[in-house]
Amino acid sequence: MVNPLYIQTPVYSSKEHPNVFYKMESFQPTQSFKVRGMDALCRFHFNQGRTKFIASSGGNAGYSLAYVCQKMGASLKVIVPETTSKYMIDKITSLNTEVEVYGDAWDEANKKALEISKKDGSVFVSPFDDPLLWKGHSSMIDECAKQIGRPDKVVVSVGGGGLLCGVLEGLKKHGWTETKIITTETYGAASFYQSWKAGKIISLNEITTIANTLGAKKIAKKAFSMAKGFETQTFLMSDEDAVTASSLFYDEFRVRVEPACGAALSVPYLFPELLYENERVLVIACGGANSPGSL
Ligand SMILES: *Cc1c(COP(=O)(O)O)cnc(C)c1O
Repeated sequence: MVNPLYIQTPVYSSKEHPNVFYKMESFQPTQSFKVRGMDALCRFHFNQGRTKFIASSGGNAGYSLAYVCQKMGASLKVIVPETTSKYMIDKITSLNTEVEVYGDAWDEANKKALEISKKDGSVFVSPFDDPLLWKGHSSMIDECAKQIGRPDKVVVSVGGGGLLCGVLEGLKKHGWTETKIITTETYGAASFYQSWKAGKIISLNEITTIANTLGAKKIAKKAFSMAKGFETQTFLMSDEDAVTASSLFYDEFRVRVEPACGAALSVPYLFPELLYENERVLVIACGGANSPGSL
């Protein structure tokens, strides 16, 4: 278990937009960036002799965690709500992971996972709110430093804000605090947008989007405080635009991503007016393992 379980992903750009760079996180073994953070998190605990993990994500976090636990030889149980797709449950189960379906929404499944961790001492793994995850995610910016140098702007999707924290941590590490940020969410999952507008953390009443990977009702506090150190613009788009951008990306690169990733892709593909000429823009193509058919 010496080598990291994630890969260095390539950066692609198109002939049409030579200044737009896509960080191709779909090429990770779990089809999303989440494996970076999960590798860092599990490795830390595993090295301290903790080999039992519990989580509540039936999405990319749960899938990447299952991948990492299997590779490390750790045991994992995932509690998922009834809304979780059979497609993802099967994917997670196939990695030697016990999945229990509990509750109608993520909050309930998460509560149960927390209870179990208190009782049996398993390590509770948050899908987005843990400094170890952010540190792991920040490795993508280290790679960019070698691949393209400092971007003028980064476009990044926000669910619970773990990816954003990782990106900002990476930018800070390289002294790139001049880099501007555009956060992307769909209208029905605007937890970062609402909080930014209100100047404090807001909890959404409900999630109404097909980009369910972005569906955290409340962002991590750290995402909010770290973003204050950058020139940050929040951007929202419809589900339809997120899906259209994903399919344009597919047409261009033959790479399939979830609408959660399409949200970020919509900026160069559908709203290029948000980008300025000669600005070098890094778009985090965060990926996603869920099948469009099961969303
Ligand atoms: C997890 C995930 C996101 C959102 O990341 P957060 O850390 O929750 O903000 C976006 N896109 C994909 C594909 C993801 O797996």
